[in-house]
Amino acid sequence: MSGTLYLVATPIGNLEDMTFRAVRILKEVDLIACEDTRTSRPLLSHFEIHTPVTSYHEFNKIEKAGELLEKLMGGASIAVITDAGTPGISDPGEELCAMCTEAEIDVVPVPGAAAAIAAVTSSGLSCRRFAFEAFLPKDKKKRRRILEELKAESRTIIIYEAPHHLKDTLKELHEALGDRRVSLARELTKVHEEHLLMKLSEALDYYEKNDPRGEYVLVIEGKSSKELEAEARALWEDLSIEEHMEKYLSQGMDKKEAMKAVAKDRGVSKRDIYQQLIK
Ligand code: SAM
Repeated sequence: MSGTLYLVATPIGNLEDMTFRAVRILKEVDLIACEDTRTSRPLLSHFEIHTPVTSYHEFNKIEKAGELLEKLMGGASIAVITDAGTPGISDPGEELCAMCTEAEIDVVPVPGAAAAIAAVTSSGLSCRRFAFEAFLPKDKKKRRRILEELKAESRTIIIYEAPHHLKDTLKELHEALGDRRVSLARELTKVHEEHLLMKLSEALDYYEKNDPRGEYVLVIEGKSSKELEAEARALWEDLSIEEHMEKYLSQGMDKKEAMKAVAKDRGVSKRDIYQQLIK
């Protein structure tokens, strides 16, 4: 019988956010794989957890995953914890989880804090649909591509950022997305917790005067349906009905489908379009 892999969330600042279940699982497993054993030690000793630990981090996550997988196959139960929050969310955990799933080893989440969820739910922006972008890529080309993709994103956007990159990232977001509202969630669950909701231009001004400090999550509003509709409208607004039909026919639609699409765009019936065409 193989063991179980537990993905255990730990607090993102406030130790009171540790769950009873997380403490129990961490006491019961055979081994805890920590992103950084030195960072996790105070947490583990605070909750009197004396389980053996090993390191499992960004730079050994592939070879170490093989080692952990062998132990799991041998029947050991292992918990993965990171420096803060939920494993796999901008932190190690994903690769090991995928390998266990492949090997039909049980993977059990032990949910708790995740900065992205805490930030979006307290932002005052829509949290019905959101896109989690984690950290924007450092590579310039990849970063530009993501920013380009985000221009059309109608869901709320969540981005992680370090304080020393905050101003540059706000500038790039302002340039790419326009002057949308952004919620800056700083030091969540900690003593200096702060939530600011403002326009991107205002955030730029604010951080010219105040140095960014601590950990940040940026929550940016998605493109409004009004803007999306205006953009869609601009694609056919200056076309005659014949040209509008031609646009869809050239995309491979047959006449009936094109007439339906034209009628839908213009908010009229198919019959109206047909009559205009035969006139
Ligand atoms: N696994 C973590 C989670 O579940 O949220 C994320 C780890 S990621 C390496 C670290 C980033 O998460 C930080 O740079 C910051 O953007 C965000 N973060 C983590 N803790 C935070 C906090 N207390 N307040 C604001 N942002 C935080």
